[in-house]
Amino acid sequence: MIEGQGTTGLVLKEPTIFERSSAGRQGYALPALDVPEKQPVRFVRHKAAELPEVSELEVVRHFTRLSNWNYSVDLGMFPLGSCTMKYNPRINEEIAALPGLSVIHPDLPAEHCQGALEIIYCLEKLLCGISGMDECTAQPSAGAQGELTGLMIVRAFHESLGSSRKIVLVPDTAHGTNPASSVLAGYQAITLKSSSSGILNLEDVRGVCDKFGRDIAAMMITNPNTLGLFESNIIEISQALHNVGAQLYMDGANLNAIMGYAKPSDMGVDVMQFNLHKTFSTPHGGGGPGAGPVAVRSHLAPYLPNPRIRLVEGKYVTENLKSSIGKVRGYYGNFGVLVRALAYILQQGADGLKQVSKAAVLNANYLRHRLSSHFAVPYRSPHFHECVLTDAIQIKENGVKTLAIAKALIDQGFHPPTIYFPLVVGGAMLIEPTETESLQELDKLIDAFITIAEAIRTKKDNFEHAPRKTIVGKVDEVRAARQPILSLDDRAQ
Ligand SMILES: *Cc1c(COP(=O)(O)O)cnc(C)c1O
Repeated sequence: MIEGQGTTGLVLKEPTIFERSSAGRQGYALPALDVPEKQPVRFVRHKAAELPEVSELEVVRHFTRLSNWNYSVDLGMFPLGSCTMKYNPRINEEIAALPGLSVIHPDLPAEHCQGALEIIYCLEKLLCGISGMDECTAQPSAGAQGELTGLMIVRAFHESLGSSRKIVLVPDTAHGTNPASSVLAGYQAITLKSSSSGILNLEDVRGVCDKFGRDIAAMMITNPNTLGLFESNIIEISQALHNVGAQLYMDGANLNAIMGYAKPSDMGVDVMQFNLHKTFSTPHGGGGPGAGPVAVRSHLAPYLPNPRIRLVEGKYVTENLKSSIGKVRGYYGNFGVLVRALAYILQQGADGLKQVSKAAVLNANYLRHRLSSHFAVPYRSPHFHECVLTDAIQIKENGVKTLAIAKALIDQGFHPPTIYFPLVVGGAMLIEPTETESLQELDKLIDAFITIAEAIRTKKDNFEHAPRKTIVGKVDEVRAARQPILSLDDRAQ
């Protein structure tokens, strides 16, 4: 057990709120009715709603106790890979909560919300500056929605040239959203195998460009990729695509590893998305809220979603483009998230963003270096922002697989890393420490991993029953997802 981490403190058991219920108990008291009671009879319930009957204090305790069972970035490190999970500075929250920003109505005419439009406009311009791209829309609400928006723009561009292309190329290391977005945008996703070094093989890309030629609408590349490796042939790849009139889409979810050092525009990228909730420290998790702005080179700008915000003679105005793909969500985007991202970028400045990438890469390489004598490391080349390990050594020593190692980490007080992804690595454990963790915190995580590896090596434990220290121990995950127990009735079944 590592000091300062772990779950040995006071952990209160908590029944479901229905089990706390006691007939007639309520959280409010209203004065007696002093007018004749009248009800539109057809709307009256025949059976009382099945709601728990509890007092206000019981509600407060119930949810506070449950919230204490949750693990969050405010409690400890989230060593998840692929999804950058870093700390969101509180100043972003304070700024987004300013009444002038948090309570404005999205239907206000442009002349009455100049400040809000300026925020979105400035953010779009800064994202163009960071990426080297020409224009940007802050409208999409997630990375995946940005991907779809980007591909719809690509489709509109090809259609404007009278070409109906069918294929989007996606490397086998890609995030699952890439092929999904391709299909949603009406394309066939064709998977491209990466080389044994973990990146794309230029000859393979040239080969598929020869084979499918003008049927290829675009290729989606994540750079650095989900193995944390930089696609070192990116310029030649973009040339091969451009030679057949295809577009290079960059999944920008891993921008945290390169910002300030490399610009996607210099890599021949035509369109990309940013994941503000990853790179630019806005809240993340539980399905939202997020934002996935899309930036394009000028030839794709006429197809960006409406409305566009322009600065004309010192005033922010909105404009609808004739050839736009239309709207991809209501209004201008997930405004509160955009405010947080702008606050973060301005707070860091250009030097700060560079420092972020540098520290994120250093942290990942430090982890990989220290853990490489205890766990198998599938790719030896220098990694960028994530560290990939596998269970190969632990399987050989004591038959212990990645899933058990991940569960064992919970008993050490850490959230598990991403496991079994990327799919191209058998038994993968993918860790992205990000720049926000200190050396002490990284060392604690490393110690936890080593403690587990030692227990496996000396056959002291195979972690078959981990986690053992949490309120809810090892669960049947498939059953838990399919038959969640949310009420007394569920429990009785
Ligand atoms: C997180 C992620 C996505 C999807 O982004 P969401 O905002 O979760 O929709 C896409 N690609 C990569 C590489 C990612 O890490």
